[in-house]
Amino acid sequence: MTRETLVDEDKTITIKVSALRQGTVIDHLRRGTGLHVLELLGLEHEGTVTIGLNLDSQKLKQKDLIKIENRELTQEEVNKIAILSPEATLSIIRDFKVFSKIRPELADELEGLVRCLNPSCISNNERIKSRFLVHKRSPLQLRCYYCERAIPEDEIQLA
Ligand SMILES: [Zn+2]
Repeated sequence: MTRETLVDEDKTITIKVSALRQGTVIDHLRRGTGLHVLELLGLEHEGTVTIGLNLDSQKLKQKDLIKIENRELTQEEVNKIAILSPEATLSIIRDFKVFSKIRPELADELEGLVRCLNPSCISNNERIKSRFLVHKRSPLQLRCYYCERAIPEDEIQLA
């Protein structure tokens, strides 16, 4: 098996991982969000998934990291990761090289990504997409465009 030494951006960790020929590395995930991200991406594709939880990081103290073989992310998945973990970085690997590296940006308005917690909200009862305004960024607070329900960071439920 080919091996590479993956050195973290902030140079605090060195982990041995099998080299990724094609796929995506999601780094600098907030501690505790790795499994959520994995869940939202699903695992039905062919390919190895490597996950590191509670890794040391200078930037975040501790972080989660996911490497997914043979898979690139959709814009919707990137947007959801930005909600769960705004500091995350995504590297797309093609032919063993970093093809592009992005930091998902949280838009000012989120459509169809988050569920409204108000059961009588129109977005839970009609066939319309939920719509939220980003009211505060740190900690994250969302406000429903339709019923104005405020949702704090720790209560956010992805759609
Ligand atoms: Zn609502």
